[in-house]
Amino acid sequence: MASLPVTDHDERYVYRFGGGVSDGGNGDRNLLGGKGANLDGMASIGLPVPPGFTISTAMCARYYDEGGAFPDSLRGEVANGLAHIEAVTGKRFGDAADPLLVSVRSGARISMPGMMDTVLNLGLNDDTVAGLAAVSGDDRFAWDSYRRFIQMYADVVLELDHGAFEDALEIAKEDKGLTLDTELSADDLRALVTTYKGLVEEQWGKPFPLDVHDQLWGAIGAVFGSWQSDRAKVYRRLNDIPAGWGTAVNVQAMVFGNMGDTSATGVAFTRDPSTGERAYYGEFLINAQGEDVVAGIRTPQYLTLAAREKAGARAASMEEALPDTYVELARVFDLLETHYRDMQDIEFTVQQGKLWMLQTRSGKRTAKAALKIAVDMANEGLITQDEAVARVDPAALDQLLHPTLDPKAPRDVIAKGLPASPGAASGKVVFDADTAEKQAAAGVAVILVRVETSPEDIHGMHAAKGILTARGGMTSHAAVVARGMGRPCVSGVGSLAISAKDKLFRVAGREVKEGDIVTIDGATGEVMLGEVATVQPELAGDFGTLMAWADEVRRLKVRTNAETPLDCRTARRFGAEGIGLCRTEHMFFDAARITAVRQMILAEDEAGRRAALAKLLPEQRSDFAEIFEIMAGLPVTIRLLDPPLHEFLPHEDAEFNEVAAATGVAVDQLKRRAAELHEFNPMLGHRGCRLGITYPEIYEMQARAIFEAAVDVATRTGEAPIPEVMVPLVATRRELEIIKALIDRTAAAVFAEKGRTLDYLVGTMIELPRAALKAGEIAEVGAFFSFGTNDLTQTALGVSRDDAARFLGTYVEQGIYPKDPFVSLDVEGVGELIQLAAERGRATRPDIKLGICGEHGGDPASIAFCEATGLDYVSASPYRVPIARLAAAQAALKAK
Ligand code: PEP
Ligand code: MG
Repeated sequence: MASLPVTDHDERYVYRFGGGVSDGGNGDRNLLGGKGANLDGMASIGLPVPPGFTISTAMCARYYDEGGAFPDSLRGEVANGLAHIEAVTGKRFGDAADPLLVSVRSGARISMPGMMDTVLNLGLNDDTVAGLAAVSGDDRFAWDSYRRFIQMYADVVLELDHGAFEDALEIAKEDKGLTLDTELSADDLRALVTTYKGLVEEQWGKPFPLDVHDQLWGAIGAVFGSWQSDRAKVYRRLNDIPAGWGTAVNVQAMVFGNMGDTSATGVAFTRDPSTGERAYYGEFLINAQGEDVVAGIRTPQYLTLAAREKAGARAASMEEALPDTYVELARVFDLLETHYRDMQDIEFTVQQGKLWMLQTRSGKRTAKAALKIAVDMANEGLITQDEAVARVDPAALDQLLHPTLDPKAPRDVIAKGLPASPGAASGKVVFDADTAEKQAAAGVAVILVRVETSPEDIHGMHAAKGILTARGGMTSHAAVVARGMGRPCVSGVGSLAISAKDKLFRVAGREVKEGDIVTIDGATGEVMLGEVATVQPELAGDFGTLMAWADEVRRLKVRTNAETPLDCRTARRFGAEGIGLCRTEHMFFDAARITAVRQMILAEDEAGRRAALAKLLPEQRSDFAEIFEIMAGLPVTIRLLDPPLHEFLPHEDAEFNEVAAATGVAVDQLKRRAAELHEFNPMLGHRGCRLGITYPEIYEMQARAIFEAAVDVATRTGEAPIPEVMVPLVATRRELEIIKALIDRTAAAVFAEKGRTLDYLVGTMIELPRAALKAGEIAEVGAFFSFGTNDLTQTALGVSRDDAARFLGTYVEQGIYPKDPFVSLDVEGVGELIQLAAERGRATRPDIKLGICGEHGGDPASIAFCEATGLDYVSASPYRVPIARLAAAQAALKAK
């Protein structure tokens, strides 16, 4: 390897690759970004990579620190980098006879497809274009490259209105009566270049930069600048990418896939990114540049003969059209998979028969493919079982747990496109991203329908249940982004005639307007009118295998937060090992019961409350009995009533009338009582155990329902339930003591009446900072703690759970909290309270059972914290149980 270039400052920012050089030494992706690291990696194993250099991510941070300026030392380093490219290619940058052209691309640590800027063909000007024409022997190619360059540079670097350039291209074709760009002659393109330059001067106020070094520095600045573009910010927020990471910039010699019929460009995956099947999978275009494939402007051809035949396509596959290059490419695929030990997503170009590798990275894939690839690779011996467990993103499992279309359900198929991202989705049709976002925020399920998506649509794609596009292949922006987000997507439905202006599309003689419901099936590519019935997902197969491997290494138990029989059954199917939180107040949301609850709340005295409670007791008892039966043999934590009053008080006249009818109390009197009960801060009000302290008859009724149900089920089924009675919102030892005495008294009374006892535990939630601090004392009374991190976050941060959404986004954007602390635990602050409570609780009662039941119990990052803190279990909502199982296994592997 050649030695490092000498620089006159201490920090080095430029790393060269290609032509036998690999300054990065097989790639540190934190420094070089993913693209730069892998270009370096490919160069280091001898693959054909066009020479280039990477300006590191450290420069991005410095660029922003210095208010968008570069240190002088960078000039020398970039000059060294260019000299390297010139030496390897034998061409010179700016040389009128045989010019070197370069691409300038972004590359963050984690790939952010389409989110940042790229400039191709840089180095062309009025002089070098002639050299390019002479050397390539192709005038048309040279002028086409030049006009593409101006168009891209004007858009990306100068940020001019790209519509004007597209219009000029359309007019140039119309003037000649042509339809395809490729039909324009060299002279037409030369004229177009003049038009483009005029447009630049008109919009920018200065002539197009003809100095190639000015061009290069402009592009480098634009790529660094694109790190702070709106779309990059949205992408980072959705994918939890820290703003401080920055992007690298890769400058690389251009190779041309548009130099005739032995030239081509393509993208490929080493395995199928939708299904995970072990088959090369990709698309290519003869005589084209890379952006033509990704942008979905021309419909690409298949890579393999098998794929072409399966799709019934006519255009030759690469295996047929360029057989020798295909064989070499397949060899490179295998080398790369073995080298990186993962499925790769590859960009390549063939220039006049010679294969060049432009990029490789771990390929984005659906959850289904991620599972299959991980399990297959472990079975092939390429990775270990533990690595397979570590590879699958727990959050992505969500895609697999939801229903798919019922194959037997009737369906009215109106079109078929490419199965770009699997899963089924139904929703109202919308035609733009902003409407998608607005409607989704109002709770409407929408399908975003676009001719093709662009990075500006990302917020709408995220908000939509599914995405439907008229153009674009399997590797188009829509397809890649949808797969990454886990949104079902059908792309390339050529028969769709969309009029975004009139808010409708037409297909097969039918008209679908905004607001009409359609269903898309991202696994088959079908588009259907109306909603189609669904069936439950298949939990065996690769899913079952990987979960079994995960369970082998997991230490934390996983329970569920559930209170309805349906949720309890779902959670058990997903592998829940008990109930960590049964919110009894949720059992009263039912329309038939809420009136009795309101009667209880509005009662003027104990007698009135007891009358209402008598109605609720049998209901509670039968609910608990059903849950105990479903959860046979597993612990069930039942939390006593914790109703924030504002959620239960009647508001509407009709609601008051119902309570009046049930109680015989006049509406006016009820309204007066409701006004008396009104609270300014209900979250800090008369809720949790405060209710049990002031109105003990409420908790007494609930305790009675629990024990009567438990004894009945034990007698009926022969299997004794394991009730864990949990007291909410405890702040002091004394509160718990009073309520525990009440529970124990009630249990003793029920056992005496029934002539049978059973084991139970009484414990508490730790959801107030005072409780965390006094955990040592509280553990003298309570046999278990369950961290209620929703309230603990609310009270530790002093941020209302119900009002936080208005300002927390800004907080996260500014890095005040790294993530929404109600979604992912504030490990530094709230986490410290949990650690302290766990320590103090254990010091008093070494065998105290510790769990978490706030929403954080289903969040992978928070689960890693629970593992590190040595909790016994996490409790998550039913659909997050498998996510928690996998996250707990990954946390255990990390701790190994
Ligand atoms: C909590 O506060 O974390 C908790 C689980 O209780 P709830 O969300 O019902 O207040
Ligand atoms: Mg709570």
